[in-house]
Amino acid sequence: MSLNFLLKNVLRTTSAHVKKLDGLGLSTVRELLEYFPRKIESTDLVGNFLEIRLGEKNTLSGKLCDFRKEKTPRGKMLGRAALVLDDGATIDVIWFQIPYILRNLRDESRVFLVGKVDRNFGKIQISNPEVHLDKNVHVGRLRAIYPESPPITSKWLREKIAGLLMFVKDFPEILPEEILAEKNFLKKPAAVKQIHHPDSGEIWYAAKKRLAFEEVFEIQVRVLREKFFREQAAKNPFRVKFDPEPVKKDLKKLPFELTTAQKKTLFQILKDFELDRPAHRLVQGDVGSGKTVVAFLAGAAQIRAGNQVAILAPTEILAQQHFAGALKFFDEETRVELLTGSVPAKKKEEIKKNLRTGQIQILIGTHAILTENTVFKNLGLAVVDEQHRFGVRQRAILAENHAHVVAMTATPIPRTLALTVYGDQDISVIDELPPGRKKIITRVVADEKTITLCNRFIDDQIEKKRQIFWVCPLIDESDKIEAKNVHDEYDRIAQIVFPKRNVEFLHGKMKPKEKNAVMQRFKNREFDILVSTSVIEVGVDIPDATVMVIENSERFGLSQLHQFRGRIGRNEMQSYCFLMVGKKDDAQKTRLQSMEKFHSGHKLSEIDLELRGMGELYGVRQSGIPDFKCADLSDVETLQSARDWAVKILKEDLSLEKFPALRKKVDSDETFF
Ligand code: ADP
Ligand code: MG
Repeated sequence: MSLNFLLKNVLRTTSAHVKKLDGLGLSTVRELLEYFPRKIESTDLVGNFLEIRLGEKNTLSGKLCDFRKEKTPRGKMLGRAALVLDDGATIDVIWFQIPYILRNLRDESRVFLVGKVDRNFGKIQISNPEVHLDKNVHVGRLRAIYPESPPITSKWLREKIAGLLMFVKDFPEILPEEILAEKNFLKKPAAVKQIHHPDSGEIWYAAKKRLAFEEVFEIQVRVLREKFFREQAAKNPFRVKFDPEPVKKDLKKLPFELTTAQKKTLFQILKDFELDRPAHRLVQGDVGSGKTVVAFLAGAAQIRAGNQVAILAPTEILAQQHFAGALKFFDEETRVELLTGSVPAKKKEEIKKNLRTGQIQILIGTHAILTENTVFKNLGLAVVDEQHRFGVRQRAILAENHAHVVAMTATPIPRTLALTVYGDQDISVIDELPPGRKKIITRVVADEKTITLCNRFIDDQIEKKRQIFWVCPLIDESDKIEAKNVHDEYDRIAQIVFPKRNVEFLHGKMKPKEKNAVMQRFKNREFDILVSTSVIEVGVDIPDATVMVIENSERFGLSQLHQFRGRIGRNEMQSYCFLMVGKKDDAQKTRLQSMEKFHSGHKLSEIDLELRGMGELYGVRQSGIPDFKCADLSDVETLQSARDWAVKILKEDLSLEKFPALRKKVDSDETFF
């Protein structure tokens, strides 16, 4: 279908543009047409002096006269001209970069200039305006402003999209007729056309509202349909009655008392086990809030009932850590095994055999367990750690088993996401840290003098037998660059900054075995400083690590920084976090200073959300949270309404037989989280 045409075949453009589009995930006509503008601006023509709005962008219409180039005292080229408006008034024009179009322009050509108009030494001046020779998609109307990423500019997008608008008719209508009627929504083709090329401000807002609704509605239908299917299956083969006595015994064995929030969460999970459908719960708790032990306690209840438990971690290192923890927590009668990529083939086969026969009670491993056709005898509970790295498909596999699924995450979940992406799960929040934890002292470090002091402090900490995490950002996804960043930083730290200390490095492109070995040595205190990229795991416990240095911290969202910081301060020792700022940028410094003041992941995520939006908060790329095209997640009203409608439609017709277009869309393979 035409919407699936490849842009590289349809557009007349350069390969640099095509490459950039691909990078933005825009390869087909459909994708480009669904690349929605965030704003619109008016370019109504101003031909009279009195209509000019000073201090704002104006679109002036007049004759361009007396164009000349000038060299500034510093040797830069300027362009100057005069614009004679229709009423005879003259405006100064200045360009700091001379547009190509002026080269062939005759004197007194009619032009349209779009730019900011100000008073300059008593004269009215328009600076650096765009130049257009006729009324086109850019002037004389409302025009769309897109998120830009050079060479893809708003101007470029406006022109190319205008040329594709004849394809909008091919967009299927996925919103049911009754919603369109009740909400008085534009049809999909009209909405797509109007959002790019609006006839009026009102109609643009109407288009945006309708497209935003569709976007969240589709998510709600996907998520809720899965939930309803699950509930309809209404089987809970692993129903376990809540029995407080053995739980109390388990609690007594722990070297600490659970926090109230941990107890509450555990209770909620144990009550889930009693229902007539499998549990599907998301446990959110700040780093260090003690989610693991809650998972073990819940697992123990399933094991007592004769069922198996799986604990899935995103990385081998974390899986190993959980394995070590489980060996400590469970008694000898409970057989715990570890299944990861680096387990030898023979051992793997043995583990799989013993799982099938039910001789293994707990299997701990990486998410890969699921894809390796591992068969359980009676998997009662699957715990998914750091669930944001876990795909829908993997969740679906678990659901097929009818096992209870408890997912754990340190990423805060705003109400809006609880209503959408996580809308099919019950949520528990562990909102307190175990007592005695000290706040991690955090400082933004932006100048040479402080860096020197900071390095001296770190050296002193190493003297006291403490260990240091040194995180550098991943500047590019390509393998080479990732390794290079770490290698360069490692060289600098090991040879120049701390030549007397033992330094090692770790990055995502090393083999799992190598990574494990490095982590293990770090845990054993065999070296002092670990230089790593940001991609490595958040949950690893290194008891003696009390300092974390984060290079180019301005590149990260506050939530992400908070999660990194959670690798230290996991016990009673005072810990320190230094946020290095690469560029001199006061706004960034101010943003980062929230890290000095606030120590709650939730608070920091709110600030992030305000300052940088959803994508940044969740680091879209890694997290699997969809990057919304149009929806505004702070618009709770639309979310709620879309959810209500999704429930209504699904209650009537769970198979969506009456809504083939919607069904096709939600069944499509296009996974967004
Ligand atoms: P996270 O929630 O980040 O996964 P962990 O489960 O790894 O946190 O717990 C962090 C540390 O806190 C572990 O060493 C764990 O043993 C300890 N811990 C957990 N709960 C408590 C508690 N109630 N009191 C004291 N220490 C606790
Ligand atoms: Mg954890």
